[in-house]
Amino acid sequence: MLQRNRFFSILEYHFSFIMRVLVAGGAGFIGSYLCDALLRRGNEVICVDNFLTSTPQNVAHLQGNSAFQMIEHDIRKPLAVDGKIDSIYNLACPASPIDYQNLPVETLETSAIGTGNLLHLSREKNAIFLHASTSEVYGDPLEHPQKESYFGNVNCIGVRSCYDEGKRYAESLIIHFSRQFSVKIKIVRIFNTYGPRMRKHDGRVISNFITQALANEPLALYGDGYQTRSFCYVSDMVDGILKMMDMKNFSGPVNLGNPEEISIRSLAKHVIEYTSSRSEIHTLPSSEDDPKVRRPDITLASKKLGFSPDVSLENGLKLTIKWFTNNED
Ligand code: NAD
Ligand code: UDP
Repeated sequence: MLQRNRFFSILEYHFSFIMRVLVAGGAGFIGSYLCDALLRRGNEVICVDNFLTSTPQNVAHLQGNSAFQMIEHDIRKPLAVDGKIDSIYNLACPASPIDYQNLPVETLETSAIGTGNLLHLSREKNAIFLHASTSEVYGDPLEHPQKESYFGNVNCIGVRSCYDEGKRYAESLIIHFSRQFSVKIKIVRIFNTYGPRMRKHDGRVISNFITQALANEPLALYGDGYQTRSFCYVSDMVDGILKMMDMKNFSGPVNLGNPEEISIRSLAKHVIEYTSSRSEIHTLPSSEDDPKVRRPDITLASKKLGFSPDVSLENGLKLTIKWFTNNED
């Protein structure tokens, strides 16, 4: 009997060191890579997603893994989870402009009510809460590149505001949960991220351009094409997110992205070149409130986290093109 009790207490001791992590939005593009990485580290992962802008396909390869649990749930409703949770990553939110402009109320409610529900869960479980915020909190920036200290330039009633203002509200809510209830929080501001597993028709520029180029169809360029973005390959982004969670005594907000800036017109030319496509570039009217420039200042991430993205745009685009070529549906 004594030996049996000892066996169970050793087992309990062993499992108390296994981190139990919840990833909201874990079936999405970035979230699915985060689940992969957390499982590789030996964590137990609870993925919470309502598949609003994804399908179970992104996490299908994890379904047989006993350390992985999928909960289909809309975070706008309170969530009860048995047992301990050590940390919560909140990536749940439509992210493509097409998605959030089609689902503006769902987007605002997910950032506001959904984030609130997960913060209450963090408080209940004493779990560290990491939030995926965005470069969109800077809006159409008047400061370039964007530092974390910049307050932004957002049209609060424009078509992008459901996303921008939702994320800005979420940051405020998170900071006040930390101030008022001592919830341990972390905020990362993610800049444009791309890679395999993006949905072919998710509406974002890289998936659109690659899909059009592979079909030898015209690439639809919105506006004059001189607006800029800085694209980060998904493995670099996940590395930054994990580094942020690992770093003690640093809650951010911190910019994560690749500062390699490019005009959208040049991006179109690169995609045509790397796909050996016969496509031409067709110019369409620009979209409302489209930010004219965007580039992260990653001094803080580099100093505090040792974050340094290492996949160049050329290599990342080639890897993404290869994946799109092999995953035609
Ligand atoms: P995505 O659309 O592929 O993933 C979002 C996931 O959240 C999807 O699986 C979706 O079904 C889920 N979701 C949405 N609303 C939900 C709800 N109410 N309840 C439960 N699940 C819900 O987008 P992504 O590119 O992987 O982005 C992930 C996160 O990173 C988002 O929060 C986004 O705002 C942020 N972000 C992404 C980028 C980028 O370039 N990819 C840039 C800045 C910020
Ligand atoms: N864009 C484009 N063609 C497309 C999709 C997007 O020219 O098919 C432009 C868009 O107007 C913006 C940039 O590419 O200037 C990046 O758009 P995306 O939707 O990928 O992300 P955003 O940074 O705007 O959230």
